[in-house]
Amino acid sequence: MSATILTLTPPPADAVDPSVDHGIQAIVAGASTAETCNTELAAGPWDFDRRPGYGPGSSMGDVIPVGSPRQGELPAEYRTAGEDELHARIRAAKQTLGSRVVVLGHFYQREEVVTHADYVGDSFQLANAALEHPDAEAIVFCGVHFMAETADLLSRPEQAVILPNLAAGCSMADMASIDEVEECWEQLADVYGDLEAPDADGRVPVIPVTYMNSSAAIKGFVGRHGGIVCTSSNARTVLEWAFARGRRVLFFPDQHLGRNTAKAMGVPIAQMPMWNPRKPLGGSTPAELADARVILWHGFCSVHRRFTVDQIDKARAEHPGVRVIVHPECPMAVVDAADEAGSTDYIRKAIAAATEPTTFAIGTEINLVQRLAAQYPQHRIFCLDPVVCPCSTMYRIHPGYLAWVLERLVAGEVVNRITVPADVADPARVALERMLAAKP
Ligand code: SF4
Repeated sequence: MSATILTLTPPPADAVDPSVDHGIQAIVAGASTAETCNTELAAGPWDFDRRPGYGPGSSMGDVIPVGSPRQGELPAEYRTAGEDELHARIRAAKQTLGSRVVVLGHFYQREEVVTHADYVGDSFQLANAALEHPDAEAIVFCGVHFMAETADLLSRPEQAVILPNLAAGCSMADMASIDEVEECWEQLADVYGDLEAPDADGRVPVIPVTYMNSSAAIKGFVGRHGGIVCTSSNARTVLEWAFARGRRVLFFPDQHLGRNTAKAMGVPIAQMPMWNPRKPLGGSTPAELADARVILWHGFCSVHRRFTVDQIDKARAEHPGVRVIVHPECPMAVVDAADEAGSTDYIRKAIAAATEPTTFAIGTEINLVQRLAAQYPQHRIFCLDPVVCPCSTMYRIHPGYLAWVLERLVAGEVVNRITVPADVADPARVALERMLAAKP
């Protein structure tokens, strides 16, 4: 099979992309309180976004990073095909390919796509599911870009990892670019001195920790600088690992996961300054950085940031006895007001383990909540956020793209292959292996 990418046309560095609403930049900078959610998205799951060179999801809040790969227009036969035809073509292509292909669907993926997945899980579970199929020639990852990169890191070199729509990125992962992180590291060296030099206790000044939801370039950076990757399931164990080796942690890209985890470990909020890459020293003073235990990158998930304490109060008033579980990517006040906080896997297991009919109010992505509600009809399960707003970037994987990549595979062509270059992949794997070896 040959490896080709449909279209790679990075815009010039100074280009203003007319297909993108840059409102998120104002939101990230704190200059706007606008929402990043497009509620029209869920109303027409079979619609295509007609804007040129861009995928079918909402792009209200999702800036395409300059230089990122761009998805070319899907051939007309897929754009004009109806729902039944697309389902039939996907099924037929999968049947023809048999064990040559594995289709992975993230928990947050839309139902029209997940129905064709061989495995459904979180990003790390899916990367591991791919490992269970070393003979598959292709792994079609119906998630977002960083997840496909992680699958490429963990799969065999001859296996092709395919992202059906190259525009399916993660707005949180995009908030920590490698250039910004390298710049941050240089500024921290100005404050702390030699970042490789251990103190009398054998601890270096700062250990970089990145959430799985980051680019391979960031995972590689972390691997090169003695750091480690974490998931929302093991963040506490990973922070303990880091504190055993460093006096403080630089945590990116999700400020909320970092803050919620460190707070639960007893780290005072005052010792968790934020690093805003647009400000000198991230917006902190040298004294604040000297006193810091966890430096939090100024990133967030557009989906989980929508949850509020008011929603929890309303759920408690309307459903006495409700059990509120939220994801740790939610803001600290929301986690504090909830009964429990945990990863998607934690939420699933908590519901599965409930023996009595229970009312659950869940603070995470709507596709997962709706799937759990259908799977456990003995419970009442609803999303805390009354506005149905899916992960808009993951939503870009329309079934038309899935049909297209599978039929190209049948024809002997690999399109939209995600490959992490060796100079990034090697240290990124080191950071992932440290995570796997970290024990509570
Ligand atoms: S839900 Fe949030 S963190 Fe997850 S892929 Fe979507 S934007 Fe990224």
